[in-house]
Amino acid sequence: MKSTKHLITLFFSFLIFFVGCANEEKDWQKAKEQGSLESYANFNNRYINSIHKDSATREIYRLFSQYTPEISKATLNSNLSVKLSFKNVPGADKYQVFYSYDKDKSYSDLSGVIEKDKVNNSVLEIWPDLKKDTIYFKLLAITDSVKSTFSDYSYVYLLQSNNGTTCQICGNNSVGHCHLRNIYVCSQHNVFTQKSGSRIRCP
Ligand SMILES: [Zn+2]
Repeated sequence: MKSTKHLITLFFSFLIFFVGCANEEKDWQKAKEQGSLESYANFNNRYINSIHKDSATREIYRLFSQYTPEISKATLNSNLSVKLSFKNVPGADKYQVFYSYDKDKSYSDLSGVIEKDKVNNSVLEIWPDLKKDTIYFKLLAITDSVKSTFSDYSYVYLLQSNNGTTCQICGNNSVGHCHLRNIYVCSQHNVFTQKSGSRIRCP
């Protein structure tokens, strides 16, 4: 009786194993047919110990190095940080932001490498130096040590103050000059949160 029970258990174990393998093979074929970064990344997430893992990873690296991330929006905040919203890059575990004051010249590292878990819902907060009129950003994604190509550029700029009458962030009427940020601001943008977390009203 005991051995029958063992046999049945063994039989079902094998069955589950073979059904599992059949699913894995089917999903592997599907991933290859789709041939996308997303399909291979999903496959590797799902089958951690798959015999196809190395092949999938090779494809991920190849596709990743050709992938162009997309910045959907760059917004200037009251504290002069910038929120970069971008489309999620499948398989990316890190991101890096570069900047330039001339969109056609070479870009320099701004953010350093940022781990994916520090990125909130595909939004990066960066702290550029807004000395000149317009600052341009490009983003790249990284998986292991493989880098994507650069995204197209996105940009922000401070508005002209018009002799101190205009908020340089939004363009509304200015209530005065903030010496901490060296800009003219409206009644909404005179309040801001510093990088350290302190909330300040200026002027
Ligand atoms: Zn304003």
